[in-house]
Amino acid sequence: MQNRTTRSTRKIEDDIAKLPVSRQRKYQLRKRACSLCIICGQESYSDTSFCLNHNLKRGIVRPGRNGHRRVSVG
Ligand SMILES: [Zn+2]
Repeated sequence: MQNRTTRSTRKIEDDIAKLPVSRQRKYQLRKRACSLCIICGQESYSDTSFCLNHNLKRGIVRPGRNGHRRVSVG
């Protein structure tokens, strides 16, 4: 048998882990607590739960009416 080094994935023990919600929700809450996009993990835009890209995708933030951008993406 190989002498493997113990590299087991450690369970995250925090307030979110104790919540009676689904894993997906915990993942989202964690991202949100760090003010990161809950989808891709990038820095969230303003006070939203998403980065600018995902805000745009969801139609939450609309930079311009006529298709021209006021904010530069990435
Ligand atoms: Zn995102």
